Amino acid sequence: MTSLLHADETGFFGAHGGRFLPPQLEAPIAEVAEAYADARNDPEFAREYEALLTDYVGRPSPLFLAEHLTEYFGGARIYLKREDLNHTGSHKINHCLGEALLAKRMGKKKLLAETGAGQHGVALATAAALLGLDCEIHMGAIDVEKQHPNVVRMEFLGATIVPVTDGGQCLKDAVDSAFATFATDWKDTFFAIGSVVGPDPYPTIVRDFQAIVGREARKQILDRENRLPDALVACVGGGSNALGLFTAFLEDEPVQIYGVEPAGRNLDVVGEHAATMTLGSPGMLHGMRTMLLQDQAGDPDAVHSIASGLDYPGIGPQHAHLRDMGRVEYVTASDTESLEAFQLVCRAEGIIPALESAHALVQTARIAPSMGRDEVIIVNLSGRGDKDIDYVADQLRG
Ligand SMILES: *Cc1c(COP(=O)(O)O)cnc(C)c1O
Repeated sequence: MTSLLHADETGFFGAHGGRFLPPQLEAPIAEVAEAYADARNDPEFAREYEALLTDYVGRPSPLFLAEHLTEYFGGARIYLKREDLNHTGSHKINHCLGEALLAKRMGKKKLLAETGAGQHGVALATAAALLGLDCEIHMGAIDVEKQHPNVVRMEFLGATIVPVTDGGQCLKDAVDSAFATFATDWKDTFFAIGSVVGPDPYPTIVRDFQAIVGREARKQILDRENRLPDALVACVGGGSNALGLFTAFLEDEPVQIYGVEPAGRNLDVVGEHAATMTLGSPGMLHGMRTMLLQDQAGDPDAVHSIASGLDYPGIGPQHAHLRDMGRVEYVTASDTESLEAFQLVCRAEGIIPALESAHALVQTARIAPSMGRDEVIIVNLSGRGDKDIDYVADQLRG
């Protein structure tokens, strides 16, 4: 039987993953793989990483019993894993610091990445500033306009922004541009991917750095309830916050696990959603084989979600595998449902959640009422919603 947890020697999780690269990227990615294989077995590297998580990020993040939400749904006890309380406001800092440390260990001088809405760029620029590395962020020219506050943040943090004017001038074009730069200039550069996606070993690297979330949650719930949770829920864009929570529980069969992807405005119309697992098919994207929303020619579809961190036409290959194995169930939440959940959590718990995280709360609202009062759900609150407030206010005004 293939492992739920580990890629095989060729980087495959079951039928998904792998390393599909143009020849000029083979050497630089092989170098990353070799360096990570070494770092992963070095207790000193782990100690350095964990010290940063404690002193800089503020870990462990609390596991908070949301009593008002629990009462409101009238069933299972709902715990929120508070990744929103991390420095920079989401789970992304966990893997950005890990990748920056790995880059430093490799003797690299610069971190290179693409960003869409700017969340990955800001977390990475933060890690680069802390560790004394240069940081170059490629961003579609349209996104540079739309995401002005994050552009300013990255600049304050010392990053160089490269606006990409090719193609649709959005995330996909920024990815292509960053990969092209890496292929020509990799001697001093580390390519820092923003989720559990891309060619092997990135899905494993980013997953390992995020797995702290579930290790903490497991210990916290055992201390608090003296039992494992009955269900876990997390939103899925590329899938890093979800695997962060899930990994520590994958081998505990009774724990039901749900990944929530965006149904956007309309599941029946291409370009109006990003429901990769629900409506996608196997294909190739960004150096990996995975589930993909794609057209006849195999080009990725346009996608939409109210949560910019979720509008990705692919998904991490381990997720595709976990679904093939029947271990994780993937469901959808729409823009409208997520806006309702956003407002509910604000008022019930005094927590403004990221619109991404609100998707996980939609599924929680579906399952909690029919569960027993002695049962437990852990929801990954992947980030805070400060970044979303103007957009939500506009939406609510219609
Ligand atoms: C980026 C982001 C996500 C989506 O990314 P994953 O890799 O799927 O976790 C979810 N929540 C927040 C707050 C984000 O910033």
